[in-house]
Amino acid sequence: MTSSVDNLARIRASIARAEADFGRKPGSARLMAVSKTFPAEAIAPVLDAGQRLFGENYVQEAKAKWPTLRELYPDAEVHMIGPLQSNKADDAVKLFDAIHTLDRESLAAALSKAIAKIGRKPDLFVQVNTGLEPQKGGIDPRETNAFAARCREVHGLSIAGLMCIPPADQPPSPHFGLLMKLSLELGLSELSMGMSADYEAAIQLGSTYVRVGSAIFGSR
Ligand SMILES: *Cc1c(COP(=O)(O)O)cnc(C)c1O
Repeated sequence: MTSSVDNLARIRASIARAEADFGRKPGSARLMAVSKTFPAEAIAPVLDAGQRLFGENYVQEAKAKWPTLRELYPDAEVHMIGPLQSNKADDAVKLFDAIHTLDRESLAAALSKAIAKIGRKPDLFVQVNTGLEPQKGGIDPRETNAFAARCREVHGLSIAGLMCIPPADQPPSPHFGLLMKLSLELGLSELSMGMSADYEAAIQLGSTYVRVGSAIFGSR
């Protein structure tokens, strides 16, 4: 088993290679280390190796791990990439620097209220269900324009970008391509796409945040 620090170095190198191969600017695809289910002791070496951007899936878990880690590493950034219940909007706005899973209007309303109340403004990504999978969160690609407009106009939210999780049993590139097309239509600059198995393909199609978990930390 290789160490998370070795894995991190290898993935950083392959992201840099993919950026160069696909004519992307160096550093334009940011690596998010997805640390869900891993304890603080497993995360600290990756922080010590210089990684500063992390992704978490569960509010309760992030609340237990990150306040302490952030005291030690004040410039660490933590993004929420898991499904978010509206009743956890206050906690999420307090804890996270970005939320990648804005996937319904009731959550937009809850986040808008939480942002006003708490006075913090995480970057928001609209999750798009590019594979139209019933078990998965996300806006229907055909409704993404209208949803983003309602987020802005009705709820006063500014949207940073789009996020997707392609169906596990399909080639990911058509989904990444669709997300890129939607982001161009909307004039959004950030694209959260690509995981351990497919981040290079996502970089080819414009990803600005690749979310890599198991390839760094090992299997969950
Ligand atoms: C867990 C998770 C990841 C990381 O997945 P790996 O395959 O371990 O890299 C990325 N994005 C989301 C939304 C996740 O839930």
